[in-house]
Amino acid sequence: MRIVMKFGGSSLASSSRIDNAARLIAARREGGDEVVAVVSAQGDCTDELLEKSRQVSAHPAPRELDALLSSGEQIAMALVALRLQELNCPAVSLAGWQAGICTDSRHGAARITGVDTGRILAELKKGRVVVAAGFQGIDPEGDITTIGRGGSDTSAVALAAALQADLCQIYTDVSGVYSADPHLVQEAVRHDEISYDEMLEMSTLGAQVLHNRSVLLARDCGVRLEVRNSFQPECGTRVGGERCVSAVSGVTCDSDVAMMTVTGVDDGAATCRLFSALARSGVSIDVIIRSPGTAEKRGVVSFSLGGDSIHRARAALEEHRGEIGYNCLLVEPEMAKVSAVGAGMQGSCGVASRMLEALREANIEPRYITTGEIRISVVLPRPQAAEAVRRVHAAFFGA
Ligand code: ASP
Ligand code: MG
Repeated sequence: MRIVMKFGGSSLASSSRIDNAARLIAARREGGDEVVAVVSAQGDCTDELLEKSRQVSAHPAPRELDALLSSGEQIAMALVALRLQELNCPAVSLAGWQAGICTDSRHGAARITGVDTGRILAELKKGRVVVAAGFQGIDPEGDITTIGRGGSDTSAVALAAALQADLCQIYTDVSGVYSADPHLVQEAVRHDEISYDEMLEMSTLGAQVLHNRSVLLARDCGVRLEVRNSFQPECGTRVGGERCVSAVSGVTCDSDVAMMTVTGVDDGAATCRLFSALARSGVSIDVIIRSPGTAEKRGVVSFSLGGDSIHRARAALEEHRGEIGYNCLLVEPEMAKVSAVGAGMQGSCGVASRMLEALREANIEPRYITTGEIRISVVLPRPQAAEAVRRVHAAFFGA
C-alpha cells in the first residue's frame, strides 16, 4: 500500500531519534509499501530560527521570515534521507517546492492550493522513499511560503490526499489522542478511535496533538488518519472512526486567550461598528457577551480573542474610537479557555451542570461560558486553567 508517515519535531530531535524514525520508515518499505515521509523541523528549531530573526530585525518581512523558517524542515529532511541511505534504504529528500506543494502567497499563513504529484510519483516508481519537508510550499511567484505553526500535519494530509495514499500516520511523542493532555492529567485515557468532528473540535480548542486544518482536510478528503508514538509505535488512535460512547471524549485547554471589555456601547448600531472595525483589521473573535444599555446603565460588550491578536484589536478600536463611540476599553491578557468536547453530549443533558459543579468545588469561577453542538467552553484566568482541566476531567472520567 501507499503510506504517508509524518514525524514531528520531538520525534526527530536528536541523531538517535532520527535513526529511530528512519528505522520505522525503512521497515515499512521493507514490508513492500510505498512510503512518503513528511518531516517537521527538529525539536525547537523553528522557535530558535524565529529568535534569530528577532535579533536582526524588529519587524521581519514575512517573505524573508518564510525563507528562514522553512530551512528547519530542510535540515530535517536531508538528515532523515541520509540516515535512510545509511540503512540501505534508497531515499530522496524533497523541499516543498520540489515536492510540488503549491500555496497562495500569504506568507506565514499560506493555504495549500494544490499538489503537483509528478516528481513524488516518479521517485516512488524508482523504488525510493520520498522524504518531504512539511510546513512549506511555493507560491505562484515562485517564492517559498510557510503554512502556519504546527502546519506539517496539514502538509502530510494534503500529500496523502493528493497521492491517494491508503493511510496517513502522524508520529509524535504521545501514544495517540487522549481524553486530556497526558502531560497535564495523569489519568487521561487514550482513545482507540475518535470521530473527525470530535478531533476537529479538540484540536481547534487547544489539543496540541494535531493541527486543526489537517483534521478538516482529512475529513473532507476522506484520508485515513492515525496518531502514533514514534517511541512506542504499536498503539495509537484512529481518527475518523466511531465517535466516543461517553458524553465527553476530551477536555482541552487553550491557554493563549485574552478578553476585551468595551463599555459605553449602548445600541446595536454601535455594536456593529465595533465588530466591523475588528473584522476590517483581520482580528477573529470567539465568545461575545453583550448587555445593552438601559436608562440607568450604559451598554457593555465583552469578547475573547487569541492572545496574539491583542495589539491589532486594541489598535483598531483606538483608531476608530470616534466612529464607534465607546467609553472605555479594558484588556485582560492572561486568560484561558477550557472546553469539554464530545459528540455524545448531543441529546444528553446535564453535561454543562456537571462541568460547572466540578469547577465550583474547586472554587473556580468561570468568567464566561459558551456552548456549541459538541462542546462546552469556559473562559477563566490562566493560572486556574491546569486545575480546571484536571477537575473537569475527573468529573467525566474519574480521578
Ligand atoms: N516546524 C513548524 C513549527 O514548529 C511546523 C511543524 O512543526 O508542524 O511550527
Ligand atoms: Mg505538531
